Amino acid sequence: MNTNTEHITVKQVTNSRLPGIDFNKLAFGSTFTDHMFMCDFKNGVWQDATIVPYGNLSISPAAKVFHYGQAVFEGMKAFKDENGGIFLFRPEENFERINKSSKRMAIPEFPRELFFEALHKLIALDKDWVQGGLGNSLYIRPFAMATQVGVSASPADEYKFMILMSPVKAYYTGDVRVTIAQKYSRSADGGVGAAKAAGNYGAQFFPTNLAREKGFQQVIWTDSNEHKYLEEAGTMNVFFRINDTLITAPTSDRILDGVTRKSVLALAEHDGIPTDVRRLTVAELVEASKAGALKEIFGSGTAAVISPVSAFAYDDELFELEKQTDSYASRFKKELMDIQYNRSEDPFNWRYPIG
Ligand SMILES: *Cc1c(COP(=O)(O)O)cnc(C)c1O
Repeated sequence: MNTNTEHITVKQVTNSRLPGIDFNKLAFGSTFTDHMFMCDFKNGVWQDATIVPYGNLSISPAAKVFHYGQAVFEGMKAFKDENGGIFLFRPEENFERINKSSKRMAIPEFPRELFFEALHKLIALDKDWVQGGLGNSLYIRPFAMATQVGVSASPADEYKFMILMSPVKAYYTGDVRVTIAQKYSRSADGGVGAAKAAGNYGAQFFPTNLAREKGFQQVIWTDSNEHKYLEEAGTMNVFFRINDTLITAPTSDRILDGVTRKSVLALAEHDGIPTDVRRLTVAELVEASKAGALKEIFGSGTAAVISPVSAFAYDDELFELEKQTDSYASRFKKELMDIQYNRSEDPFNWRYPIG
């Protein structure tokens, strides 16, 4: 990887916007901290790494990202413990994944050293934006996009890599009702479903709106070939508890390799909960529900951590899930958050102290 090792230049804000922020009234991901990171790819090299006041960009309307959606992103969080220590959660996974996504989208990979230096510097500058208290965190959004001017349909030779940070409270409130996809798909074999490509989300909005109109918050995506296998829930990975076994789909071309997903699997194994990473069919799910064996469905992802599903619809039939007193969803959410907020041991070394 070509990289030039110059340090990140920093232009600080003169007046922080922090005193004007009401942390009790944050809509997820709509308020950003004082600073942002930027780095350009030009002449085959990532260069001009800077941290500047958060603000608008000036980009040509002919930049390829606007025409061909050549863009990837990540989502990660910083947490503050009771002593004011700040921690990331498995950031190495996000670093590796954005480069995996970039590779699939023909975007040049970003250097590890610069990624971590940017995170350290940004968080150090905006550390007062990380609120303590369970559920509060700083959502971190690294992304890369094609900035080269020109509407010829070919990969760009100029890119911008950026990191934004947004103070957030817990993501979803309440239980989520879902429909099982029977027509639309999120991803296909050989496609970009395993990458955090910007367009994956754009393509989900329309079918998700259709589900919303019917009173559901999310769609459970099935395989694009037969709509037979359960794959993901909304923008999250999905878990099913049948009797006491925790089932989730194996990662593939179509399934995003979620950090939360792999952490839940590791915790389950650590706790002696039987796991089964296999393809689960809709038919099996319906049958398990009818037999009373289906105990829980929940989504997993950085934003919501764990999001319990309270009902699912299939073929216009509604299946409700009963609340479990020994809920796996609550258990894993607590275990994950205890590790994230430095409230428990960290047997897997997932915490990454940053300030
Ligand atoms: C980001 C994402 C997830 C969750 O991944 P985490 O690393 O757990 O945040 C799951 N599915 C899709 C489609 C995603 O884009």
